Order: sequence, then C-alpha cells, then structure tokens
Amino acid sequence: MSRSKVALVKAPEAAEAPQYQVVVIGAGFSGLNMAIRLKEQGITDFVVLERAGDIGGTWRDNTYPGCACDVPSVAYSYSFEQVPDWSRAFAGSAEIHRYMQHCVEKYGLRKWLRLGTGVAKAVFDEKAGIWTLTTERGETITARAVVSAIGGLVNPATPDIPGLKDFKGAVFHTARWDHQYDLKGKRVAVIGTGATAIQVVPAIQPQVAGLKLFQRTPAWVIPKPDFSIEERTKQLFKRIPALQKFVRNAIYLASEAIFGPLVILDTPASRLFERYALRHLERQITDPELRRKLIPDFHIGCKRVLISNDYYPALAQANTEVVTDAIVKITPQGIVTADGKTHEVDCIVLATGFRLDIANSPFEIRGLDGVKMEDMWRAPGSKAYMGMAVSGIPNWFIMLGPNTGPGHTSVLVYTEAQAGYILQALQTLLGRNLRYLTVRKPVQDAWHQKLQARMKYTSWTSGCRSWYLDENGENHTLFPGLATDYVLTVRTFKPEKYDMAVYA
Ligand code: NAP
Repeated sequence: MSRSKVALVKAPEAAEAPQYQVVVIGAGFSGLNMAIRLKEQGITDFVVLERAGDIGGTWRDNTYPGCACDVPSVAYSYSFEQVPDWSRAFAGSAEIHRYMQHCVEKYGLRKWLRLGTGVAKAVFDEKAGIWTLTTERGETITARAVVSAIGGLVNPATPDIPGLKDFKGAVFHTARWDHQYDLKGKRVAVIGTGATAIQVVPAIQPQVAGLKLFQRTPAWVIPKPDFSIEERTKQLFKRIPALQKFVRNAIYLASEAIFGPLVILDTPASRLFERYALRHLERQITDPELRRKLIPDFHIGCKRVLISNDYYPALAQANTEVVTDAIVKITPQGIVTADGKTHEVDCIVLATGFRLDIANSPFEIRGLDGVKMEDMWRAPGSKAYMGMAVSGIPNWFIMLGPNTGPGHTSVLVYTEAQAGYILQALQTLLGRNLRYLTVRKPVQDAWHQKLQARMKYTSWTSGCRSWYLDENGENHTLFPGLATDYVLTVRTFKPEKYDMAVYA
C-alpha cells in the first residue's frame, strides 16, 4: 500500500477560526452517546444540532399504541449507564424516551443541545479545513469536524397508492400517530406487516369495531420473552449492579449465538429456527385458512424476524380480517383490492416503514473538490469505511452509516463502538492540528468488498423484498458479522488508513 498523502497550507487566522471544533448532527441515541464521550474526553467545544424540538430520535417520533423495543432494555441502553428500574423486560417507547432524557440530565448535555436546528447543506473548505453547515433557516455554522448521527429510520415512507389523498377518513403514518383521533368503535385499516404493524395491531384491535390488516408479505414471528420486572428485582439490580451487568452480558452472548441461525443462509440451525417460528404460528392460530395466509414463503431472517405474543391472537379475533389481495387503489370510502372488493373503513393507518437514508446523502454534502456525497453514493460500489468514513468527505464521521446495522442484537453495541472510534479520529485531527483527514479510497473499497463478499452467504440476500436492500438488491444496511467482530474491528483508529493534510 502507498503511504498517506500529506499537503501543506497555512493555518487559518483567528478571524477565520470555526465556531466549533465539532458539530454533532442529531440528538438520538447515537448523537447523545457521541456528546457524552466528547465531554468525558475534554472536547467541550462542540454543539449537538437537532432538527426536532426534543431529543430522542425514533423514540420521540414513534408514539403509536404498543410501541416498544424488540431488544431487552438492559441491552438496549448504554453499557455505561445502566438503570435498575426498567418496568418491563422490553420497555415501551415512552420509557425509553424518558431514559434518554435522564441521560441528557445526568451527563449535563442540555447546554450543548441546539433543538429545532435542522441542517440543510454542508460544504467543506479544504484550504481552511472547515465545514460550513447551512441550517434549514439559512443560518451558517462552522466546525472543524462533523459527526452525522441522524439515524436511518427517520422519514416515514408513504406508499404510492392511487387515490390515497382522496380518502375522506383519517390517514396517518405510525411514526406520526394522531393521538387526537379516537379509534374506539371505528373501522380501521392497517397497511403493512413489519415490526411496527405487529405492535400496533394487538394494541388497537380490542377497541376498534373492525380491523382489516392489509398484508403484502407475511412475516416470520417468534415468541417474545417479555414480562414486567418486579420491585424486588429492581432493588436487587440497584444493590448489586454487577448482577444487572451479568444479565446484560448473558443477553448479549445469547443474541450473538442467534446470529448464525438468523443470518447464515439455509443451515440446519436456520431450518430449526423456522420450525420454531412455525410452531408459534400453529399454537396461536388454529384456523387453517388464516394459518395459510400467515406462513412466509421466504427464508427466515431475510426480513427482520418479529417477536410477539399477541400479534397472532389479535389476528384470530372476530373483528379482525387479514386481507391478502393486493391493494389497487384508495377511494374516498376505503381500499379497493385486486379482487374488485371495496373495503370501507373510517381510518387508514400506514405501518409502511421508512424511506431508508442509511446509504443516501441526507442533504447536500460537498467534500474535497466540491464533490457531492450523493454522487459518490449513487455510483455502485463502496460506501463508507467501517460505515463511518467516506473517502473524499474529510473530517466527517457517520454513526450508524452504511453496513453497520445489526439484525440480531442491540444497535447500541455498534453505536458505542462507533463513538469510541470517532473520538479517536477527532483526537487525531484536533490533537495533531490536521487540516483534514479522509479515508483512503483503496482502504474503503477493500472494506466494502470484504463485506459484500460475505453478503451472499446471508439470508438477507436470499430473495425477499426488504428495506435492507437497495434497488440493485445490494445490502448497504446491515453488518454481515457478529457484533463482537465489528466492535473488535473498530476499536482502534488507524491513521495510516487515512490521507492527511496539515497546516503549514
Ligand atoms: P417495514 O419493516 O419496512 O415494514 C413496512 C410494511 O409495509 C411491510 O410489511 C411492507 O410490505 C408494507 N408496505 C409498504 N408499502 C406497501 C404498499 N404500497 N402496499 C402494501 N404494503 C406495503 O417498516 P416497520 O414495520 O415500520 O419497521 C421498520 C424498521 O423499524 C424495523 O425493521 C425495525 O428495524 C424498526 N422497528 C423496530 C422496532 C423495535 O421494536 N425495535 C419496532 C418497530 C420498528 P412488504 O413486506 O411486502 O414490503
């Protein structure tokens, strides 16, 4: 490998100095994690920009009935901030949001937050080594480095169904739940059968007059080992934090053990896992016709495996119907399916997921030579080194970027590892007073090729449609390996993987 290139220019005068050393974009789990680490390491000249009026990311936006995390809370919380008082094994969204607010207060992050500040554009001045961010209000903010922690599942996807706008009843996406709308006694349509739908359906089914679930693809569903946590367990965790840590580690190891059956394609273990899911379906659904509708025709793990104890029972209720005929159009009265039937409803709930922005540029980002990130990412091939650094976009680090999502464990394992790596990168940049550092293209390409070579052995590319895949059928979303593999790989920032430019 050739050595890193070094270019010299004069350091900026004080008048040209940026407003901040670091800007973090996004105040969800990743952005808050980064802010905590920056503060802890004495890098206090930073700001966290958040486009919404509150912190919390997906846990602020998703307030639909039944919303909860499908990863146990002791694992879906920071390793360094374990709290002993989770109410359930799998906490609901409001409780997770409260946990995040607790972290903001405990780590004193308020004064670093700028809420209601969305970024619309970012341009790098390579001579000065400074990013200029333009906000949605037209204000400019400058910084030496940017950490983009904007999350992937942010912007709701509205299906392109003819006539949706003409529907005269209520329509809302699950991520924009209309809490003013009273579902009691209403005829409700739910479109979608993903992780969101399986939570919302059992939560609303008892109160509605009728529920029609429009299913394009049935999901694999396994039991959810959920339970409320007794007061004495909380007290025990409080008195002996090591016990909670032990439980957390045990959950981590169990989820790592599930990676094989879930992700590696067509093995005896994955077939066993399919049988386990089918038994769950057979135990909960006795009607053979309904069972037939709910059996997936793709490998388990190809789409996200869902966990629920109350989804199938809700579908078996007399006021629920699973509609498998394709939706053709929507009229002012309801939904018309391919069999010519009009399903008259009062309300349509869109549980149709999100526009995936993990491997898309979220706004205009211009790096070296004015090249846009979207142009680099539009071309087939490599996306981001370790999911965090993009060649030609210097001093810009991504949390939960391309190919860093997990399909089997807590995403926070990845974001904590990323915060550690990015911190080292920032310490290198600021400590050595570099003008910029940018990952070398051959390094990025080699990383990409290694990951994509693994993809063909995964269930993710085994032929189903999912948000994991792009329009070319490539997976730029998930990491094809154990979480432990990712964590160990990114634990040390290696400057030799980067081209660096210094000030004269
Ligand atoms: P999703 O997995 O993308 O599911 C969207 C659903 O909408 C799919 O069933 C899809 O059908 C259906 N759909 C989309 N357009 C449609 C159309 N035009 N006509 C009919 N059906 C249509 O979205 P999600 O359920 O919101 O979940 C997204 C991700 O959010 C999850 O995978 C997970 O990572 C995260 N999430 C996590 C939790 C948690 O507990 N941690 C909870 C909720 C969500 P097809 O399957 O046929 O495409």
